[in-house]
Formats: sequence, structure tokens, C-alpha cells
Amino acid sequence: MNKELSLAQIKEAVDEAYKEFKGNTDGKNADYIPYLANIDSHLFGIAVCLPSGEVVEAGDTDYRFGIESVSKVHTAILALRQYGADKVLEMIGADATGLPFNSIIAILLENDHPSTPLVNAGAIAACSMVQPVGDPVLKWKAIVDNITELCGSAPQLIDELYKSESDTNFNNRSIAWLLKNFNRIYDEPNLALDLYTRQCSLGVTAKQLAISAATIACGGTNPVTKKYVFPSEISPRITSMIAAVGFYEHTGDWMYTSGIPAKTGVGGGVMGVMPGKFGIAAFAPPIDEAGNSVKAQLAIKFIMNKLQQNIFG
Ligand code: GLU
Repeated sequence: MNKELSLAQIKEAVDEAYKEFKGNTDGKNADYIPYLANIDSHLFGIAVCLPSGEVVEAGDTDYRFGIESVSKVHTAILALRQYGADKVLEMIGADATGLPFNSIIAILLENDHPSTPLVNAGAIAACSMVQPVGDPVLKWKAIVDNITELCGSAPQLIDELYKSESDTNFNNRSIAWLLKNFNRIYDEPNLALDLYTRQCSLGVTAKQLAISAATIACGGTNPVTKKYVFPSEISPRITSMIAAVGFYEHTGDWMYTSGIPAKTGVGGGVMGVMPGKFGIAAFAPPIDEAGNSVKAQLAIKFIMNKLQQNIFG
């Protein structure tokens, strides 16, 4: 396990995975957010970024899709940058909830216990923590700048997605105010909620996500831009959070079958971090019952297996 990797091996694995799963028609687009229901369900892309900065790609890796919950990772990194690991643990937590991404019950059960910035409640809390507290314009700028540094290029807000989500995010509104009830939100709830909704509506490409995953895998220096983004001690913290809850209540099954910490989003993106080795992302809109892209999961598992990689050795 965990063989040294050559570029040629990675190219071969990515191409094979693309060919193998391109025709798969399982799953269906998320429909609880109207914009996502209408995305072309045939889109499919895979990208792997190496510590050298080389990016191996197959398929629709330049198509901009809704980052959705994958953005929780980026803003958790921002909170870690601004507050440090101990404060983030104290103010949000780093535990798996074992419940769906938008669970209200998890907040009731864990109101005085740790949660994690990688479920909706913790992600909205993370948005509330972003400095400068109380200033929506500068907070939004900090969120976008942070994602830009991680990806090595800027994401773009998909206005239609933002509108679609804002019009239908009733569950998340409840979460924001329930957090307020338990003193687990650190700015005005509606402001934090709006930032969360906007960050989920950012358009990114599979290539950008692979580069941001590689930035985590490379200890906080972006391998493409070569720019320092965050202190290296943040990498194991955020990777452990991804490993604990990246697939929500199905994370154990995912880690067991794939061997790579990865974060999903209902927009069809999955981003995986293989520490010291590579960042990987795959994108395909049709999702399974649990809200995870069918083809992206298959492709990443296939590549991990083919390359004989596993974080657990
Ligand atoms: N914006 C979505 C929500 O909060 C993201 C969900 C996801 O990607 O898991 O409902």
C-alpha cells in the first residue's frame, strides 16, 4: 500500500476511471434546491493535483458548479487561520454528529457539546466567527479571498443558485436561530446565514477543488501558485475533521471503502485530501439518497484502489 506515485500512473488511473464511469446513469440531481435540479446531469470531471503543482485532468474539469458543502472546509480553514485550533474546538467543535448534514436534532442533542464546522450548524457558526464580526462586506471578502488562495484562482458567485437557495433555505434559517438560542452563533444570525448561503452558491471547477485539496495535502502552501496560505499545523486539523464527517452520517462507510478523507457537496462535487501525496476532486451532478455524487464517489474509490493508496496504510 501507499506506493510512490509517478505522473504517468496517475494519468492512467484518472483516464481509466473516467472511461469506466462516464456512462453511469445512477442517482439524480439534487432537487430540493431548484437550480441544481436543472444542471446537465451528464457532466463529469476528475482532477488530481500533485505537490509538484502538476494537475492531471479528465472530462469537464473547467465547468463551474455549485461548491455547496465543500465550502464548509474552506471556511473552517479560515476560522482556524483567524482563531487557531483550540478556539475553533471550543467555539464549534470537531466531532461527527452521526446525523444528516442539516440536522436540527443534532443541535438539540449537542447544544453544550462539540459539533463540527463541516455540518450546516457548525458551518453557519463558522461564518458567524469570520472576522471582522458585524461587517458583512469585509466578512464576505475574507471568505472569498480565502477560497481564492486555496484554489489558486477566484470562485464566482452563481447568482441564480444564490437566489434559488435563499428562497428555499427554511431549514437553515431554523438552524441559525436555534444556534442563537444556545449561544453557539457569534454574529447576527441572519448575517451568518446569508454568508453561508452565498458561500454554498459559489461556482468552482473540479480543477480548483483539486488544487485546494492539494494545498491542504501540502501543509498550507498552494502547490500551483507556490504561495503560503495557512500554517502547516492547520492541515492535520482540517484533514481530521474531513475524515470524521466529510460524508456526514455515511463517513465511516466512505473511509472504510475509499481510504481517503473527502468532503462532498450536493452540487455533485467531492474533494479528497491524501496528505503529502495529492489533492483529488471529482464532479458529476447525480447524487445518491445520502446526497453524495454517485460518479464522483466511484471515480475516487477507483483511483485510490488502482494507485494502491490508503491513508491508513
Ligand atoms: N447549501 C446546501 C444546504 O445547506 C448544502 C448542502 C450540501 O452540500 O450538503 O442545504
